[in-house]
Amino acid sequence: MKVLVVNAGSSSLKYQLIEMETETVLCKGVIEKIGLEGSLITHKYGDQKVVIEDTINDHTKAFNLLIDCLVNKDYGVIDSVEEIGAIGHRVVHSGEEFDSSTYVGDEEMKKLQSVAHLAPLHNPANIACIQLCKSLLPKVPNVAVFDTAFHSTMPKKAKMYGIPYEIYEKYQIRRYGFHGTSHKFVSGEAINYLTSKGLPCGKIVTCHLGNGSSISAVKDGKCVDTSMGMTPMAGVMMGTRCGDIDPAIVEMIADNTGMSLKETTNYLNKQSGFAGVSGVSSDARELCKAAAEGNERAQLAKDMFAYQVQKFIGSYAVAMNGLDCVVFTGGIGENSWEFRELIMQNTEFLGIAFDQEKNKTKEARGNFCDLSKPESKVKVLVIPTNEELVIARETKEIVQSL
Ligand code: ADP
Repeated sequence: MKVLVVNAGSSSLKYQLIEMETETVLCKGVIEKIGLEGSLITHKYGDQKVVIEDTINDHTKAFNLLIDCLVNKDYGVIDSVEEIGAIGHRVVHSGEEFDSSTYVGDEEMKKLQSVAHLAPLHNPANIACIQLCKSLLPKVPNVAVFDTAFHSTMPKKAKMYGIPYEIYEKYQIRRYGFHGTSHKFVSGEAINYLTSKGLPCGKIVTCHLGNGSSISAVKDGKCVDTSMGMTPMAGVMMGTRCGDIDPAIVEMIADNTGMSLKETTNYLNKQSGFAGVSGVSSDARELCKAAAEGNERAQLAKDMFAYQVQKFIGSYAVAMNGLDCVVFTGGIGENSWEFRELIMQNTEFLGIAFDQEKNKTKEARGNFCDLSKPESKVKVLVIPTNEELVIARETKEIVQSL
């Protein structure tokens, strides 16, 4: 079966076509700046790439271009759309309506619409794309795979906020967590690796560190806690998001600056984190460069981030009553030896013997790599994430069970 994985944003659309027999990516691409000036599609197949600049006013045009790329006689990879067995959609927020991936029929579509407001920047685009696929390719089943679903196993004491219970009941305000497909993928890979070595794998902390970052505690393969919350703004500070702050600060900033509540939230979401603290950049590479050149605020942002990740690792070791493995993934986790080194400081008492030399090698950049010394009681692994593959696998499983 060939599964088309689609990740629709408000102005972009990423896709991959995956042959599930061999889990091979046949082609992948991204359509950018939909509805904006300079829209274009970048389509990669085999080791080739085409870039098509076009006026792409809306998602319907974008999706039609995508289909053309799949079947095009010069750079397509299938003869007809009939070959697409299913479409798997990344959907950001499930609310309390779903706790696992789902086939999207009429009933499910209504439920999806009822939780769209929980992720106003993402869910409406995800839903619109599913509707588009249903109308353009009516014979192909659609599956929604949620960023939040892997975290649905969290116990209530980890899910709930210390706010009046009626508010939770009325508005579904609680911790949901995000990056679930990534945490699921890398914890699964870690379990396979540790099991093959005859090592314990019941207590894993997964650190997805990228533009957005989240940390999860995975006990016996199930998520028991995660750092993001009702929205992806919570947890550690990120490229542009503030992470956990005193909630009273929101009103203080609004009062002092004259910004509205909405503007303040946007400010904490888009202009804070690495970018706001350093004044340099939201990008970890730029931050490391500036810090190396002596920029103190860039160094401060680095130290704050590493310290906050450390605190989550420590607290999750307590939550699970032990630790077998720490996994690094995401753009920073997979590539940045500097951040991994900072984060692994002060962790010896947990039984971690971190191999600092190996951490700096090329082998440890973007590849599966074991960074623990032989005597380490806790394994430290770098595992490149693959969210699209998780979406494709779940889509296939659901469609085959229909
Ligand atoms: P997203 O959350 O958008 O998926 P990614 O997981 O791709 O983001 O992560 C992007 C982040 O990874 C950026 O901050 C980027 O600087 C960082 N990154 C990528 N490569 C490196 C590297 N070699 N060293 C340090 N940081 C890196």
